[in-house]
Formats: sequence, C-alpha cells, structure tokens
Amino acid sequence: MKRKTVLLLGGTTEAYDLAERLAGRDHIRLISSLAGRTENPRLPAGETRIGGFGGVDGLAGYLRDEGIDAVIDATHPFAATMGWHAAAACVQAAVPLLRLERPAWSVGPDDHWVLVDDWDQAVTQLRQLGRRRVLLAVGRQDLAPFSAIDGIWFLLRAVTRPEPLPAFAAYELLLERGPFDLAHERALLAGRRIDAIVCKNSGGDATAAKLEAARELGMPVIMRRRPERPGVETAADPSAAVDWLRAQVRF
Ligand code: NAP
Repeated sequence: MKRKTVLLLGGTTEAYDLAERLAGRDHIRLISSLAGRTENPRLPAGETRIGGFGGVDGLAGYLRDEGIDAVIDATHPFAATMGWHAAAACVQAAVPLLRLERPAWSVGPDDHWVLVDDWDQAVTQLRQLGRRRVLLAVGRQDLAPFSAIDGIWFLLRAVTRPEPLPAFAAYELLLERGPFDLAHERALLAGRRIDAIVCKNSGGDATAAKLEAARELGMPVIMRRRPERPGVETAADPSAAVDWLRAQVRF
C-alpha cells in the first residue's frame, strides 16, 4: 500500500493527542505544523514543520509540493485565520480537509454569562457591570484592551509571562498551567475575592471548572464567542478524526 502523507495543523491539546495516535503507523507520513509563536515549543510525535505557509497560495503550493493526501485543521478555536486559509487551499489543491475542534461550552440555566464577539465589547460590558475584582483568563496575547480600564483590580492568569506586560494600574500576575479542578478554582475565586470573570469559549475540560465555580457563586462571566469558521466537515475528538482519516486515505 502506498504511504499517505497527512498534514496536521496543530498547536492544541487535540493535535498533540492525534499526532500520538498517527505517528509511527506504517502507511502514514504525518507532518505536524506549528505556527512558531512559542519559543521552544513542545514537539508533537512524528515529523514537525514550524512557521506560516505564506497565505492561501503558499499553503496550496505546500500541499502540492509535499504530495499531501489529507489535511486536518486542529488549530485552536480562536485561531481565526488558519481555518479559512486551510479551507481555501484545500479546494485549490483538491485535498480533503477535516476540522478537529473540541465542542464549545454551552450556557446553563444557572449561569450568568454575558456573551461578546470581541474584546472591545468585553471592555464595554465590564465597565457597565461595575465589578471591582476580575479574573482575566483570556490568554497572554489578549490582555492589552483591558489595561485601560480604571477602578478594577485584575488577576491576570497566563501559562507564561506576557512580554510585554501591558500597563495595568492594579493587578496580580498568576502564572499557572491547567488543568484546574473545581477545588482549585473555588479557592482562587474566594481567596482573591473575585467578583467577575472574563474568558473565551475555548471549550474542553481543562479550564471549565472556573465556570462551575462562578455558577455556584452567581458570578457574571463575560464570555467571548468563537469566531466564525468555514463550513468544513468537523470531528469533535481525535478518535473521530482517526476514523475520518481511515475512510479518506484507507490506511
Ligand atoms: P491564526 O490567526 O489563525 O493564524 C495566523 C497565521 O499564523 C496564519 O495565517 C498562518 O500563517 C500562521 N499559522 C497559524 N497556525 C499555524 C499552524 N498550525 N502552522 C503553520 N502556520 C500557522 O492563528 P493564531 O491565533 O495566531 O494562533 C497561532 C497558533 O497558536 C495556532 O497553531 C493555534 O492552534 C495556536 N493557539 C492559538 C490560540 C488562540 O487563542 N488564538 C490558543 C492556543 C493555541 P500563513 O498565512 O503565513 O500560513
């Protein structure tokens, strides 16, 4: 059987998991792709390439040059561009494409979510809420729009130190990596006397406990909706992605 070449657009937990499942199979050459935003990134199992492709045409050219048989877009739900580029390039190069994306969190009857589409809306909502001690769990690259707000003390939670750190008037920087369990999140909200949370709808279990802790306290959560995506066949977990690939390239 001819070896099939698969391009996996990564940078997420699901992509690392899928790479583990596919690397080392006799009939597959797996190439994982990382954007190159992180210094010394954790490398997935199998072959890896790092850096942008140079837009849609660059990616379409790469698919042809490398003889890619299938593409799996497992980039983060808030990576707003790569999915569109992948969809357009795969049409151009006539290569099948799957989107691997963890389901979004959904609001429950006891939640107090304020839904926003971007950080400017979040800033406006935060000003209107009149809260004073806010957990900002938006990722280190998205802190800046909040730094101009006066009168709020922010708990900035990030995996690695934001460089540069925007000039917040009153804040604490908390560097910690999930998963976070409910006991941890309860203690965090109580210990820092948090009265509102701002986050994005990343989905998944690793960072969901803060939502449950907020629900228990009747605390508002300003939740950024996911960006719009192209209509592409989607798998919700790595195991479903393996099934799709098996059907596509018959490995
Ligand atoms: P983005 O806005 O969708 O992409 C911007 C550009 O970065 C793309 O046009 C592409 O450049 C390049 N790129 C993105 N993902 C790539 C990949 N896997 N391999 C090669 N090039 C890639 O993405 P982003 O929000 O900057 O995120 C960058 C990476 O970080 C993604 O891989 C994503 O999975 C990961 N990540 C993002 C977030 C988030 O909240 N945005 C969170 C966790 C992880 P060219 O046009 O030159 O090809």
